[in-house]
Amino acid sequence: MSNPSILILPGDGIGPEVMAEVRKVIGWYGDKRDIQFDVSEDLVGGAAYDAHGTPLHDDTMAKAQEVDAVLLGAVGGPKYDVLDFSVKPERGLLRLRKEMDLYANLRPAQCFDALADFSSLKKDVVAGLDIMIVRELTSGIYFGEPRGIIEEGNERVGINTQRYTESEIDRVARSAFELAMKRDKKLCSMEKANVMESGILWREVVTEVGKDYPEVELSHMYADAGAMQLCRWPKQFDVIVTDNLFGDLLSDAAAMLTGSLGMLPSASLGKPMANGRPKALYEPVHGSAPDIAGQGKANPIACILSFAMALRYSFDMGAEADRLEAAVEKVLADGVRTADLLGEEGVDPVSTSEMGDAIVAALDASL
Ligand code: NAD
Repeated sequence: MSNPSILILPGDGIGPEVMAEVRKVIGWYGDKRDIQFDVSEDLVGGAAYDAHGTPLHDDTMAKAQEVDAVLLGAVGGPKYDVLDFSVKPERGLLRLRKEMDLYANLRPAQCFDALADFSSLKKDVVAGLDIMIVRELTSGIYFGEPRGIIEEGNERVGINTQRYTESEIDRVARSAFELAMKRDKKLCSMEKANVMESGILWREVVTEVGKDYPEVELSHMYADAGAMQLCRWPKQFDVIVTDNLFGDLLSDAAAMLTGSLGMLPSASLGKPMANGRPKALYEPVHGSAPDIAGQGKANPIACILSFAMALRYSFDMGAEADRLEAAVEKVLADGVRTADLLGEEGVDPVSTSEMGDAIVAALDASL
């Protein structure tokens, strides 16, 4: 069987810095676990614009369609703010998401014990938290027609349309059930079936899909109640599936329960390919952080945890994903901190590269 293939797109700003640390981790798996990946690298965002005059070259797009997983750093920066909208760095990322048809966005909210004090909630509410929000990413109110601002009588009216087809709900629900099967077999679906027809359909279709996953305990919650429950006692959830708009809000809120932007990974998944693996793009939630780029200050953990998600969801290497997450947990428990994680007095921050080295050393210690 051929090695799993990964296309690395470091991008701009701190993207290449954090991606260099992921490279160390990938190298470790080759050297110490004899798990080889076919890794190729290309340009995206401002870096691609500088080289080709476009934020994503067609050849790069074609490569992204062929590999088992794309790993992206971050795009953007002040240098590119003056560019026309059509060639801005972010357009490269949007093109990848659109053409790969990545309809399920996975945002974990995981709280490492050593960082529980960073949360705005009480420590016992968030310590040990490990939940996953699956947000529908390519339909719903951000895309529905009609939309626009029209004149009506003597005033203007802003219009957006919440629209979901059964097949759009079905496919994202299946992604969420599949995930639940790999985790605690517990799924909560959130909508507003009390006031929205699209919510009624959402609930019906998710319930129907659930019949194919009898082992998964399915519950339904109105999204507003879900927001309250996420703040009150988030540990009651394991996987949450919801639409594009509610998912946008709920995933940001849930992720921030756990602390720093430098810690948050994400995955966007699409249809299964011929080999059964879903089309997949993994990336940290943070941007290119121009304020600290080139200074060795960036926290590489979000990007490294994105690779852990690739191990789990693209490569069926759940045990190795657990190993990598445990290595991150150990390093944090040992008090190793990049500047964004500093809270305690008298702790000197480590550099991006030193954090990567510490995680690789913790991987060594896991053998
Ligand atoms: P940002 O996420 O880049 O930075 C916000 C703040 O968090 C900054 O103070 C930054 O230093 C800090 N930060 C972010 N990641 C960090 C890390 N790994 N370690 C330590 N500190 C970290 O958001 P922004 O400042 O709003 O945007 C900067 C650029 O990034 C813009 O051009 C924006 O368009 C782009 N952006 C790209 C993506 C993406 O590629 N997916 C996402 C968001 C923003």
